[in-house]
Amino acid sequence: MCGIIGYIGKEKCLPKIIHGLEALEYRGYDSAGIAYIENNNLKIIKEKGKIVNLKKLLDFETPSYLGIGHTRWATHGKANKTNAHPHSVGKFTIVHNGIIENYSELKTELVKAGYKFKSETDTEVACAMLDFIYKSEKDILKTLNKASNIFRGSYALGIICSDDDNTLYALRNTSPLIIATSENGNFIASDVPAILKFTNKYLLLNDHEIAKITANNITVYNQNLKEVKKEIKTFTGNLDAAKKDGYEHFMLKEIFEQKQVFQDTINYYFDGTIDSLAKNFEFLKKFQKFDIVACGSAYHAGLIAKSLLEEYANIPVNVEIASEYRYKKCFYDKDTLVILISQSGETADTLAALNKAKNDGITTLAIVNVLESSIARSADHIIYTKAGCEIAVATTKAYLSQLAVFSLLSIYLGYQNKIIKDEELKNIFTDLKNMPNLIEKTLDNANIYFNIGDKIYKNKQIFFMGRGIDYAIAMEASLKLKEISYINSVAYQAGELKHGTISLIDKNTPVIAIATDKNLIEKTISNIKEVKARGAYVIFVSNIVPSEKFYDEFIEVINIHPILESILTIIPLQLLAYKVAKDNNCDIDKPRNLAKSVTVE
Ligand code: GLU
Repeated sequence: MCGIIGYIGKEKCLPKIIHGLEALEYRGYDSAGIAYIENNNLKIIKEKGKIVNLKKLLDFETPSYLGIGHTRWATHGKANKTNAHPHSVGKFTIVHNGIIENYSELKTELVKAGYKFKSETDTEVACAMLDFIYKSEKDILKTLNKASNIFRGSYALGIICSDDDNTLYALRNTSPLIIATSENGNFIASDVPAILKFTNKYLLLNDHEIAKITANNITVYNQNLKEVKKEIKTFTGNLDAAKKDGYEHFMLKEIFEQKQVFQDTINYYFDGTIDSLAKNFEFLKKFQKFDIVACGSAYHAGLIAKSLLEEYANIPVNVEIASEYRYKKCFYDKDTLVILISQSGETADTLAALNKAKNDGITTLAIVNVLESSIARSADHIIYTKAGCEIAVATTKAYLSQLAVFSLLSIYLGYQNKIIKDEELKNIFTDLKNMPNLIEKTLDNANIYFNIGDKIYKNKQIFFMGRGIDYAIAMEASLKLKEISYINSVAYQAGELKHGTISLIDKNTPVIAIATDKNLIEKTISNIKEVKARGAYVIFVSNIVPSEKFYDEFIEVINIHPILESILTIIPLQLLAYKVAKDNNCDIDKPRNLAKSVTVE
């Protein structure tokens, strides 16, 4: 994961690099570091923990015009100062995003050649390898090119070589990296927000390409070391998302943005007519089976999609975790469409799954939030979600926008396949129109969910349960809670609890039971009674107000067509998770050990 930024130009580099690192901190915050050239001397400053710790050690007036910075999400070696980037060996200093998979064998070779290592990282090995190759090649471009044939795995590298300390070099494979250009200098960065304060002009570096960057010039070389012409792109979005607007946390702000996000996503594809859906989604008609592949919350969105598409469109859907899918044997039919879901469009495992499907000759569809991201660029078809820039590490609005897209796909294919008839379609369209107001009404009740959060935040474990689509919602709600509050939480199929896990239910163990599917509610209520009989503190989440009181707390979800119901159900549970984490004084926007864009395997 990690964030990389580099600058070379007419202006002092430290303020720019720190600004960039702060904009990239969502990618990792185990440690941060910076390397810069001051009067032809290389300086490296690094510190454990968040960027604020590094900032305290820097003099922003330092007359340095070339530097590279890094905020780390540790993969190899503890999150300490020694393992922090940049790493420097011999003539090379680098920052790295990704994993050099063959670092262990390279290390053995380098140790034999006399290299000694200070850190436990794969990055220091990569750096030593550059120095080692350079000793024989004596040419920086040739060295980088040779290294890119030797390194296995994923890497975006920002590189300074002391033999050419007026130039910034970059090299990438799989991990994201852009090069940005402005009148006052040029940048490398892991993502656009890092450079948007200075410029909106950028170019994309493809796998195995090398960039040689000076204050006034950017040259990109391919694997044959031939110069490649690059299109300069203009980023047209804005950075308003990066402000908290009075909210205490980005996560809370993003939960409250969901009304707008829903509207933006729906309006992008739907103008109130089935024809608009046909225009956008007609390409789906020819597929008879979907494999949905994703990680984390996006995987949970895939489970909701499975429920909806199977129920309303009669299409069999297989949902898989990307890190498993990429290595398993797949049995495709020729009519299979592989659907990849990723907020960032950079998720390494999802990208690998996409490449696997492509290599197998299967058509792919990417559902992503970030324009021009790697997954978007590689897939045969793209559906963009319109969640805008999401800053909090725990996703809320991007997840909701994925659900909105799948509701539209299910409506379209359900109608196509004649499961949804004209009358029902009319009702769904009315519900779609009402949704923004209903989302707002749900958000207006935040205090009800917060009060319930106050009652359960001290517990060591909290269970979720549901059946069918409600189980898929339970999984996302449980993930939200555990990732930000660090309370152990597991979601179960309501009928499954008694096959083992019920032994964990004790007096006052919170069990959050979700039951919005009218066909299954009675069954779920029976399961609730089983845990209640064993002392559980039951929070019942449903769109039906029960006549009998078998619960301790009730969260009422507004009743709407089932194709849209999950969207209204997840919101109270996001707010509940938020409050539980807040009551536990957790770092809500940057939960420990996590990072937002998971660009390592
Ligand atoms: N593998 C490198 C390390 O552990 C880089 C990880 C990252 O992408 O932040 O230091």
